[in-house]
Amino acid sequence: MRCFHARPGRMSFALLLLILAAAAGADTQTGSETPPPLTMRLDYFHTGNVELEVFAFDELVVEPLPWPGHPDRAVDTTGRGDYFFELVDDASGELLYSRGFSSIYPEWEEMAAAEERFSTFHESLRFPQPEGPARVRVLRRDGQNQFVPAWEIRIDPADILVKRAPSPARAPLLTIQERGRPADKVDLLILGDGYTPAEMAKFEADARRMSAALFAVSPFRERQDDFNVWAMAPASARSGVARPSSGLQRHSELGTRYDAFRSERYVLTFDNRALRDIASHAPYEFVQILVNNETYGGGGIYGMYATAAVDSVWADYLFVHEFGHHFAALADEYFTSPVAYQPKEPDVEPWEPNVTALLEGMPPKWAALISGSTPVPTPWPKPAFEDYARDYQTRRQQIRDAGRPESEMNVLFAEAQAFFDQLLSDAPNSDAVGAFEGAYYEAEGYYRPAMNCLMFTRYPVFCPVCSQAVGETIDLYAGPR
Ligand SMILES: [Zn+2]
Repeated sequence: MRCFHARPGRMSFALLLLILAAAAGADTQTGSETPPPLTMRLDYFHTGNVELEVFAFDELVVEPLPWPGHPDRAVDTTGRGDYFFELVDDASGELLYSRGFSSIYPEWEEMAAAEERFSTFHESLRFPQPEGPARVRVLRRDGQNQFVPAWEIRIDPADILVKRAPSPARAPLLTIQERGRPADKVDLLILGDGYTPAEMAKFEADARRMSAALFAVSPFRERQDDFNVWAMAPASARSGVARPSSGLQRHSELGTRYDAFRSERYVLTFDNRALRDIASHAPYEFVQILVNNETYGGGGIYGMYATAAVDSVWADYLFVHEFGHHFAALADEYFTSPVAYQPKEPDVEPWEPNVTALLEGMPPKWAALISGSTPVPTPWPKPAFEDYARDYQTRRQQIRDAGRPESEMNVLFAEAQAFFDQLLSDAPNSDAVGAFEGAYYEAEGYYRPAMNCLMFTRYPVFCPVCSQAVGETIDLYAGPR
């Protein structure tokens, strides 16, 4: 009896295997999905001073969610970023994945303090987990803005020391908009920092408001269906994030704070591990942190993250402008605000898509968008702009130095923007693409593509060149339209 029962049982099992194998074959033939690879993260320390730059391995992490990218768009051909990394199969040399990116580190190198000491920044590279041993190669720009090798490390996904136990999720994942599988969409994660448990409804409303602000601006507006937007906020004990220059000290879960590199409006986190562990519980390719503060400020690093002060009257502008840095590597086109960086000599063409040094024999990289009748360089009311901007920046500094309420700053910004909008829209060439001198923090030697742009003033429209660069990044993640 036992034999009789056992035998058909084994046969049934074998039959089941056959059926499963046939089904799998049928799946392949009908193009059904193979499951996405795991998401692997290489954490490292980026250390140095004015003379020396060192990359040091920290750990390899397998994130809890599968890879959110599309296998057909693994290779980045946009050529942007201070750095570029490649994942290469160790055995065959095949290029498996690549992306350009930027880092806080090059900003540190420009600081006077980098002549006196070293500093360390924790950073991450994320990629689909390779099937076998692979090499990660990091390239960085040399003095001529060409990519040269900076670091190479062999990784083995089978290594027992790969961390596979994720830190627990710190907050529920909210869906702001879901338009398809992560692999087919740009996945934007909005994180909240400095929100108390009692402020979580506010966070969701803020995330929805900022998402709407992004999709109000072209070309995001026309490409909204190419995006999924997710949101998550780990709770803080107290409201707001730190702003040391006004004496506001806070512990917040993402470590975001004002006064990065002692620039009062520059908002960054230096706690990359906290950021990545928290974010790893969402499918994401881009991440923007909302700081639950009123004071004007933000920041954006290409391929890393962006930040924006969500209760600023200028939050819509801040969110989109900083996202422009993070998403499409757009340069700042402004040149009259004080910045912490050393002045640059315009003797090398910048790599960013929306600024040019107009070097001898080198037309602007956006020459195809310039009409034959537009002179290059392109005349614009620069002296009138600079006169006003000089006075406005002095008043801005006085408001900060005196610790005046944010409302006074908002009035000043509104006055200034009204003046700039009028001046720039009334001038000849106001709608032209050309090469307008004054960009990239410098009054001379660098040129921007249009009279006005969201990367130049608080004007709520991207110029055609910035718009095109944003479109190329959307294509890289969601496929061309
Ligand atoms: Zn622009």
